[in-house]
Amino acid sequence: MPDSKVRVRFAPSPTGALHIGGVRTALYNYLFAKQHKGDFILRIEDTDQGRYVPGAEDYIVRSLEWAGIHTDESPSQGGKYGPYRQSERMDIYHTYAHQLLENGFAYYAFDTPEELTAMREKDATFKYDASSRNTLQNSIVLSQKTVQEYLQAGKSFVIRMKVDAHQEIEIEDTIRGKVVFNSNEIDDKVILKGDGMPTYHLANIVDDHLMEITHVIRGEEWLPSTAHHVLLYRYFGWTPPEFAHLPLILKPTGQGKLSKRDGATFGFPVFPLQWNGGDEIFPGFREAGFLPEAVINFLGLMGWSPGTDEELFSMNEFISMFSLERIHKAGARFDFDKAKWFNQHYIIISEDTYLASLVKEGVTKMFGVNFDSDYIAQVCSLMKERVHLLPEIYTQGAFFFEEVRNYDLAAVLKKYKPENHAHLENMANLILSSGNAVEEVIKNYIHDKELKMGEIFPVLRIGISGTMQGPDLFKTIQVLGNQKASQRLLKAISLFQDESKKVS
Ligand code: GLU
Repeated sequence: MPDSKVRVRFAPSPTGALHIGGVRTALYNYLFAKQHKGDFILRIEDTDQGRYVPGAEDYIVRSLEWAGIHTDESPSQGGKYGPYRQSERMDIYHTYAHQLLENGFAYYAFDTPEELTAMREKDATFKYDASSRNTLQNSIVLSQKTVQEYLQAGKSFVIRMKVDAHQEIEIEDTIRGKVVFNSNEIDDKVILKGDGMPTYHLANIVDDHLMEITHVIRGEEWLPSTAHHVLLYRYFGWTPPEFAHLPLILKPTGQGKLSKRDGATFGFPVFPLQWNGGDEIFPGFREAGFLPEAVINFLGLMGWSPGTDEELFSMNEFISMFSLERIHKAGARFDFDKAKWFNQHYIIISEDTYLASLVKEGVTKMFGVNFDSDYIAQVCSLMKERVHLLPEIYTQGAFFFEEVRNYDLAAVLKKYKPENHAHLENMANLILSSGNAVEEVIKNYIHDKELKMGEIFPVLRIGISGTMQGPDLFKTIQVLGNQKASQRLLKAISLFQDESKKVS
């Protein structure tokens, strides 16, 4: 289909929170679509009623919005190929299932779940396929009359696709190259279930065809299903889309697939946003303090590489550089430190007002005070170079929002000299009276009195922020305001004086 417009879809099932791997799948589809000026479609695959989780669809939509992955067609936006929720397309699947029945590519199977379980108990390798179907209860074996009677009597049934034995099913995967399955390895998959719902296999390919999807870009775990899908395309006489199966995302150890439980095991989020699923609450990248730009950069490189050492990419840069050919075959290790490294970069280059808008809620919650956005922005400007996660702006910079709780006494007592005390008091007073000239005045004072910078600065710093790790002393004073800084210093040096008496 070289001339047709690129149309790709992200087709999650609303069975819970969208795993970060799902966001990567959506991202790669989006990048590919936008690079080709094509369409990116969100289709909700909700035919498995047993696994349906309320709130999951909304979570998926919010996650994509947060990540900046914009859909062209979706259940809420609509579009000319809708509806985009599979549960609203039942008639379509029934029509196509019956078309397969009529053409001999599918059959009714009346075996009860109990009978099938018994078969499996007898023979663990049991498969419903060309080798076993002739001994089972289905419309291939039973007379037409019996089948009609069963159907009329309302006996429950499923519809299975008929997979002939000894065939090679070849898939040309853009990432993996040629993948060949032997039809003897696969079973006669159910395509329409006892409850009248289609299975994933039928609904997925019918929709991909009707929605004119040109490229199917999805996780590697779907590769085995593709054999069935290719057969279904053949049965319908349709041209399959191009397939590209993305590598797995691996645990940080590199051993095995990253699972949703790994978040708790390794102490990092594996979901984009916090998920509240009844008694299960999973933290999200957003709540951990990630910027969407960082998550996109991180995910963009988890499985794809630009072919150079370059690592920093915005969404638009990814769109122009992305290619399916440069997706790796090997699994991509989830490296949380790398994610934080990206986040640090994006925090540093972000506008202070933007950062302030993101941390304001956290600040209010933590300190119980509604701080002015301008003030928070000034704190962000000083703290942003020093943090990896947004909340660190106000946890490490708590002294901007409340009095110092803990002084680094060990460090300060190494520098505090009782003979300097009067000078420190004088400096606290100078801070109060020097307006914008604090830096100059204090430096001059230290110089004029021939004090040692190395004995004075640490005391001033720890006196004002509790720590040596904080941002520049004079910028900190400027943000706190001369009065607060002065008062704080006076209080702190008297504490240091008392403490130094205790140790001496
Ligand atoms: N509904 C499937 C899922 O949950 C879609 C797989 C595909 O993209 O074909 O991931």
